[in-house]
Amino acid sequence: MRYLVVSDIHANWEALQAVLADAEGKYDKILCCGDIVGYGANPNQVVEWVRANVAAVVRGNHDKAAAGLEDLEWFNPFAKESALWTQSELTAENLTYLKLMERGPMRIGKLQILHGSPVDEDEYIVGRDDAQQMAYYLDVPYSFFGHTHLQGGFAYPRSGVRAIQRPSMQESCRAVPLETDLHYLINAGSVGQPRDNDPRAAYALYEPGEPVVMLHRVSYDVETAAGKIVAAGMPEFLAVRLSVGK
Ligand code: ZN
Repeated sequence: MRYLVVSDIHANWEALQAVLADAEGKYDKILCCGDIVGYGANPNQVVEWVRANVAAVVRGNHDKAAAGLEDLEWFNPFAKESALWTQSELTAENLTYLKLMERGPMRIGKLQILHGSPVDEDEYIVGRDDAQQMAYYLDVPYSFFGHTHLQGGFAYPRSGVRAIQRPSMQESCRAVPLETDLHYLINAGSVGQPRDNDPRAAYALYEPGEPVVMLHRVSYDVETAAGKIVAAGMPEFLAVRLSVGK
């Protein structure tokens, strides 16, 4: 089984289309680590795509916010405004879908998908110190997460925690070697709002049993996606950040 792993699509239809075109023919099933909506201007299209095409998905904090399950006082003003816009935009059916999305981690064979951390779906695992604290909770060898919008993740050798490098700006993909007996916490990166200083949409390809996981980046029509955010009346900052990947 070949998996396409995506995360943090954030209602960015153009980025999603670019990822699907780039990965075409290279996967059998799609897994998603949450935040399918929020920030972007195409929430209904993206939710409908997830419902029709994704084999397994866990909810993210922005999915909860749009579904009315999150106290928006904890959100920054930009996130709050976009959550309210998303809520007003979604069809009743898509809102119901968001309300019923499952919390991670979700087990799929020898791997699991989750949004924030294995213990808290809203927790950010950014650096090695955060990752170190998760070592005890990784009860399957391969865990895919999202939430930080930073492609890469961590390997857990006996000696501690090692960061996984994402592709450089000159590369469109990077093969991350997987050593037997090690545990991995892998971030496929964000499809719709990368924050690792690379504006290209991110995704991962993984096939159980293979000695590598492939981290990919692909350029997409940022201008169109950004233009739609502005046209929808959402904060301009949310459009501008797409072009810099922050
Ligand atoms: Zn997100």
